[in-house]
Amino acid sequence: MCGIVAYVGYKKAHPILIKGLQRLEYRGYDSAGISVLNGKISTFKTKGKVAELENYIKSKDLDGQAGIAHTRWATHGEPNQVNAHPHFSQSKSISIIHNGIIENYAVLKEELVSRGYVFESDTDTEVLVNLIEDIRINEKVLLDEAVRIALCQVVGAYAIVILSDEHPNTLIAARKGSPLVIGIGDDDYYIASDATPIVEYTKNVVYLEDEEIAVLTRGEELKIRTTKNKEKTPYVQQLEWNLSELEKGGYDHFMMKEIYEQPRSIRDSMRGRLNPVTGNVSLGGIIDYEQKLLTAKRIIIIACGTSWHAGLVGEYLFEDIARIPVEVEYASEFRYRNPIITEEDVVIAISQSGETADTLAAIELAKQKGATIIGICNVVGSSIARATHAGSYTHAGPEIGVASTKAFTAQVTVLTLMALRLAQLNGAIPKTRFMQLLHELDSLPEKVEEVLNTNGLTEHIAKKYKDVNNFLYLGRGYNFPVALEGALKLKEISYIHAEGYPAAEMKHGPIALIDENMPVVFIAPQLGIYEKVVSNIQEVKARKGNVIAIVTEGDTIVRNMADYVIEIPKTEEYLVPILASIPLQKLAYHIAVLRNCNVDMPRNLAKSVTVE
Ligand code: GLU
Repeated sequence: MCGIVAYVGYKKAHPILIKGLQRLEYRGYDSAGISVLNGKISTFKTKGKVAELENYIKSKDLDGQAGIAHTRWATHGEPNQVNAHPHFSQSKSISIIHNGIIENYAVLKEELVSRGYVFESDTDTEVLVNLIEDIRINEKVLLDEAVRIALCQVVGAYAIVILSDEHPNTLIAARKGSPLVIGIGDDDYYIASDATPIVEYTKNVVYLEDEEIAVLTRGEELKIRTTKNKEKTPYVQQLEWNLSELEKGGYDHFMMKEIYEQPRSIRDSMRGRLNPVTGNVSLGGIIDYEQKLLTAKRIIIIACGTSWHAGLVGEYLFEDIARIPVEVEYASEFRYRNPIITEEDVVIAISQSGETADTLAAIELAKQKGATIIGICNVVGSSIARATHAGSYTHAGPEIGVASTKAFTAQVTVLTLMALRLAQLNGAIPKTRFMQLLHELDSLPEKVEEVLNTNGLTEHIAKKYKDVNNFLYLGRGYNFPVALEGALKLKEISYIHAEGYPAAEMKHGPIALIDENMPVVFIAPQLGIYEKVVSNIQEVKARKGNVIAIVTEGDTIVRNMADYVIEIPKTEEYLVPILASIPLQKLAYHIAVLRNCNVDMPRNLAKSVTVE
């Protein structure tokens, strides 16, 4: 998530820092800030764009040859000036910037509050900087040792850089789960979330590894040790990419970068919410509304577009796992059809941006009728997050590509956690089965990784079908929404007409379209009513249709019938929607690229639909 830039050396720090933040703007963020050291630390922060920060600091004294700067994508606390980074420790001696999530911040904060610490912001980051200060003072250790001890107590993901007025020529950086690159100059150092802010100054970089702490002092050698106190020899690499390649992490488009981020974004959606050892699932944001959800007469999920598809998967999840009745509605229809809503209903509103106009209007309507409203959004502090009674953030990080990929799988992940939590509370599934489901969910990011390694297969299939005019996507049960989402992805970015259908419905109409020119994508894992889907595949083959099938690894039955098969690892039925969506995202992507379409900004579409 978001951006870190830092500098220590003999040049003026702040122009390097501001330019670096501008280079990282493509990552998406909601506020920005900077600290520079000149005897003491001066910090300036603003909500909004880097340009606003630049404007704000114009008349300020920013002299100093060491500094840290940050663009924040809020996870804990609204995007505002107070919550923006850098954050000071209580004594104002240490300043920190942080990307990621400290899962156990609440426990640590309680402890620090009991020791007299007062917090200005709602962030998890301010907890970490005070923990470091507390350790440094009480254990009488040097700052880098205090950082090491603090990080041993932290659960979660972080990339941090620390500036301290006690060590004016030094920065301390560490990472776990969030990226950090160190640029090595002649006698100075640069640090950033990726190499884009560094490349114009030096090509020599060290990619910090998880659980490594770096101490960077100008004019001295770079020192790295692990959180377990083992010294490491820095491995210096040469940067080869140009700026635009760097922004996209080496991918040609943001969409592909985001597709490949999914193992991490799904893990982030589960972070601190799932414990496969104790068998506990907890979603802090909805804890006070769990009883309401359990006793609801029905749950109504409202959303638009891709989020609506996530909602449809949610319907299967809630009914199958937690045995709670669910209806799913397009927000745009719901708001105008005089729906029957009572105080016993719970409405779950899903939106990536949290600004979708139709969803917001539907929320207001349901609220007026007395329903309880739960939100699932990606953007902290967004309008929907504020308009709902409670909710859970997806924590997928900023999504730049207009066609949603990682936000969709994160929405489904959160809905899965909700369904499991409710099942845990109402005992809808036996304990041993519940534990199996939990373990499987915990291993999902690794399986997503496997799915991403299809070695050019989806690209090969894309080459074959890039010039067709129509596509059909078919699936049943949990995979019917996947068929809808697969078709939507293709439509959005390649402009090929595509339809998703429940496979058995094919006989009631779409089968008339099938001939030798029609590619039909089947989602056909060896689970649930697999045999019935196999029959549907046969019906297509009998009419000379082309079949591309997503199958469970090792499947030979469908392999013998289909023109192409894409394997996904064995998993529980309820997790197939996430795994099966990924090859469909890649297929749409490759077809769109081959047709020379603007993948990240498809014609006529906007990322956040703020008009009805
Ligand atoms: N969890 C931190 C916050 O909410 C950092 C967010 C980020 O990665 O920018 O402030």
